[in-house]
Amino acid sequence: MAVNRMHPGSPQGASEDRRLWDFTANARPQTEELAGDAKADVLVIGGGFTGLTAALNLAQRGLIVRVLEAGRIGGGASGANAGFVVPNFAKADPATTIAALGDERGRRLLALVGAGGDRVFELARMNAIDCDAQQTGWLQPAHSADLAAALAARAAMWQSLGRPVSFISAAETAHRTGGMAGYHGALLDRSGGTIHPVNYALGLARAALAHGVAIHEGTPVASVERDGTGWMVSTPGGRVRADRVLLCTNAETGGVARRLGGAAVPLPVYQIATAPLPQDVVDRISPDRQPMSDTRGYLFTYRLDAENRLISGGMAILPFAAHARMGRAIVARLASELRLPEIPQLDFVWRGTAAMTTDFLPHLYEFGPGFIGGLGCNGRGIAMTAMLGGVLADAATGTKLADLPIPLAPAKQLPMRQFAALAVAGALIQARVQDWRARTFTSGKSST
Ligand SMILES: Cc1cc2nc3c(=O)[nH]c(=O)nc-3n(C[C@H](O)[C@H](O)[C@H](O)COP(=O)(O)OP(=O)(O)OC[C@H]3O[C@@H](n4cnc5c(N)ncnc54)[C@H](O)[C@@H]3O)c2cc1C
Repeated sequence: MAVNRMHPGSPQGASEDRRLWDFTANARPQTEELAGDAKADVLVIGGGFTGLTAALNLAQRGLIVRVLEAGRIGGGASGANAGFVVPNFAKADPATTIAALGDERGRRLLALVGAGGDRVFELARMNAIDCDAQQTGWLQPAHSADLAAALAARAAMWQSLGRPVSFISAAETAHRTGGMAGYHGALLDRSGGTIHPVNYALGLARAALAHGVAIHEGTPVASVERDGTGWMVSTPGGRVRADRVLLCTNAETGGVARRLGGAAVPLPVYQIATAPLPQDVVDRISPDRQPMSDTRGYLFTYRLDAENRLISGGMAILPFAAHARMGRAIVARLASELRLPEIPQLDFVWRGTAAMTTDFLPHLYEFGPGFIGGLGCNGRGIAMTAMLGGVLADAATGTKLADLPIPLAPAKQLPMRQFAALAVAGALIQARVQDWRARTFTSGKSST
């Protein structure tokens, strides 16, 4: 496949987003903006993982499907993420999910979420998607004895649900993380791994196109209005009359996306990628190439890409001049935690917005008969969207919403959403204080 590999190039401007994934992306499929009027059985709004997975699923069932994407395929969170495939929740765990939803509904959601990693790798394999998909497993080291006990219980619960999850010892954790001291063991989910997210999105788009889906990039949807028994979807270049509409716009709030994005808390996240590391360093810090995200409130995460670049992320307490500051702080933290021989060259810094639901669970939203949205991937969206797309496709083909495994939430805007940045900053400060109190670690010296 033709590859659009650009050189990392000149040093980055202070606030310029440069996504590693755009610089190492495969050739993009050709699509056109919507011009004039059209029809569809199902109209999908948003060309990220959720919309593309739903569209592919629906086309495979023989429906006439169109995708309208405001920018370009993978231009939202699907192209901004770190590519960790993590088949569980960021905050909720099996026990709290069952407590929140009840035994039957809780277990159905857990079965869905737990299968998300396998589904990503299956989608990549079945559609021959060239996206560096590696199902190496995902590691979650515990930074305190209490959290180690909690993760051991969580691993046992996932195991009882049939998932390939185990709890590994402190010594084994140290081996898998390049000798990082202080971890009390780790949860290992063997169905997790890594992908190149933009190439995964582009591959989903190619598969959807091959199944007859019409994709229109550069086509923002301004409004969706009831039209008889269906819906009229309006864009600057034309309109689409559709029987059903799926809103897959995640954290975005432009035009009709506000209906969904306004129901979630927007979470700005910075990502960085270094220059490729020497092979001996790679072999030490990640002998099995497992991505890891630990349990600290201010998460420590890392993975390698196909060229052995180190990828990590973080969140800024203060939004001012955060781009350059965060880049420097994240790479310094990597060097300190992983005891790298020197601070690696910082080649890419970019920012994206994740969508958090207030209960940290995924949800469906009904905006009218047959007009459905879904979100709630809470920073662990790659595995989740592979399942959410299928659930939305079920919703669009007549399954009663109450019978679906993802719970329905009221389709209303969050009150006080404009103060989300303050709440996020407060939560980050609290997390740092808690980590400092645990004091198991000697590093984490970043000043962000
Ligand atoms: C920085 C960052 C790091 C992350 N890291 C990870 C990770 O490592 N692992 C993981 O599992 N998850 C991660 N996530 C979460 C994951 O990326 C998301 O959950 C997932 O990509 C959501 O996919 P989506 O298709 O629902 O949304 P998106 O990819 O955001 O797609 C929504 C699309 O809708 C389009 N759109 C918006 N408004 C309109 C409109 N009016 N008309 C038409 N189109 C519109 C947008 O242009 C966009 O392309 C991360 C998120 C961020 C931001």
